[in-house]
Amino acid sequence: MAMQAVLGFDMETDIGSFTPYYEGLLSGTPVILEILARHGVTATFFFTGDAARKHPQVARRVRDAGHEIGSHSLFHETVGDPLFDIPGISSLLPEEVELRLLRASQWVEEAAGIRPVSFRAPRLFGSTAMVNALEALGYVADASYPMYYYRDRLGPYHPSCEDWTQEGEMSIVELPNFADLSMISHDPYGRDLDQWPLFRTESAEALLRHIDSYAGYCGDRNVEPFLCFYLHPWEFHPMPTGPVHYGEATVIPDPFIVRNCGPYAAEQFDALIRELLARGTRFVQAREVTLLL
Ligand SMILES: [Zn+2]
Repeated sequence: MAMQAVLGFDMETDIGSFTPYYEGLLSGTPVILEILARHGVTATFFFTGDAARKHPQVARRVRDAGHEIGSHSLFHETVGDPLFDIPGISSLLPEEVELRLLRASQWVEEAAGIRPVSFRAPRLFGSTAMVNALEALGYVADASYPMYYYRDRLGPYHPSCEDWTQEGEMSIVELPNFADLSMISHDPYGRDLDQWPLFRTESAEALLRHIDSYAGYCGDRNVEPFLCFYLHPWEFHPMPTGPVHYGEATVIPDPFIVRNCGPYAAEQFDALIRELLARGTRFVQAREVTLLL
């Protein structure tokens, strides 16, 4: 069966919420654009409002290269239901969600000249309130569903307004982020099933073994494999592996978070795209998935 794939890049500060820097956004994005152009592949870049406002030239460069501009919250805050706790990052109150997402849309539009219609929640911490707010704001796609955690939906679906993880009648389309459900999990959250960040902590070849196994799992269930990936520009630029000091604390990133960021990640990403194309994979933008249902 032909595989469909969405490449989603979360355009945020280096190492997600753990630094205030944009070295990866500035230096990793051109590397990504070059690889995508080499293969003639299109992708979706989900900008936080903050990233777009501080570096509008990056958003415009991505847009001018023909890729989709989406939103990734305002400041990489927890928009939905947290799957695990992170110090200093509390969830938005339900009544704050729509205003925050509106401001994020506005800041991205001011920078890129395009109103985003696709969204991804930071850390894939989505919620029913979030999906309802996205629909009210005119979004057509949300790529937040973590397949490793819920392990239920395999392909794109219209969610229920009462439970975003279930099928329902909403117009927005939910895109599950691929995880290898053919594996047995030994992690309470199922994170050992997840795709990320195997392409650089191991290799494109290791990730492709999981993709092929998952495609077989889908085939057994008569479902067309759908691969939604989440990646970050800071993975394409060397990241600090030692302590990062702030006014109140020193943060040491876990080794897997920063391992092989830079040239190795770029080389493996290039190999991943090449191999997926060789398997007949069709790359689409998040907003285009609505047309395929
Ligand atoms: Zn993120």
